[in-house]
Amino acid sequence: MLVHAHPDDETVGTGATMALYAAAGVEVTLVTCTLGEEGEIHVPELELLGPAEADQLGGYRLAELDAACAALGITDRRFLGGAGRYRDSGMMGLETNKHPRSFWQADVEEGAGHLLEIMREVRPQVLVTYDENGFYGHPDHIQAHRVAMRAAELATAEGFGPAKIYWTAMPKSVLEAGISAFAQSSNNPFEGIERIEDFPFGTPDEKIAARIDGTDQHEAKVAAMRAHATQIPDTSWLYSIAGNFGSEFMGVEYYTLAAGQKGPGDGPYGWESDLFAGLPV
Ligand SMILES: [Zn+2]
Repeated sequence: MLVHAHPDDETVGTGATMALYAAAGVEVTLVTCTLGEEGEIHVPELELLGPAEADQLGGYRLAELDAACAALGITDRRFLGGAGRYRDSGMMGLETNKHPRSFWQADVEEGAGHLLEIMREVRPQVLVTYDENGFYGHPDHIQAHRVAMRAAELATAEGFGPAKIYWTAMPKSVLEAGISAFAQSSNNPFEGIERIEDFPFGTPDEKIAARIDGTDQHEAKVAAMRAHATQIPDTSWLYSIAGNFGSEFMGVEYYTLAAGQKGPGDGPYGWESDLFAGLPV
């Protein structure tokens, strides 16, 4: 089970992992917490769908999410509390954080209750969400973390908690490689960033628990990114990095282990290559 904040987060953060497990026949459940109503709109003819005009972006993004899930092979796709229950809060500090239906204003216990209902049904062995900072500080990502962790705690108390909980992560060595590879590029996504401390994310390599190699799924991930056209324009640095680094940038995703027993792994830090490593089959 993966708990994400907005449509497109599943693809950008964990798309290769999802496609990999779906292709292997593992039951994958995606729970998205908001419709992403406050996202940017990169398709000019859809500009008036935004919150200040028609306020229809959320419904449109639901359709984008469905297309992305189809590309990733995901058939069990749900919204926390039902589609439209919680509204995108927008970036930290914006007035939209105070919207009464914003996810940031949501009661964590109530949100966790909605997630617990889904957990009772699908009984996930492995839960994937974000760290306490929501990977990069967006209020809905922080809230998704809180709701997911609380639901896992409640599920554990009921005797069916996930055996392992992972948080998405980016190893510092991978960031460093990205910075140096792009230093001379005219389309540098890291423009103005010289030190990895300037990033809102980045995890020391020794704290990474799993490196999931979904390289073979990178085309599915790119197709899912294309499905999120309002959010990811053709000119996005995601595509320019993909063009330079190829399938590895798109296909390899990293996690820290927040709960459960680390399984066997490889390399200097014993990184697992399977989120189910060490669990009974
Ligand atoms: Zn997001």
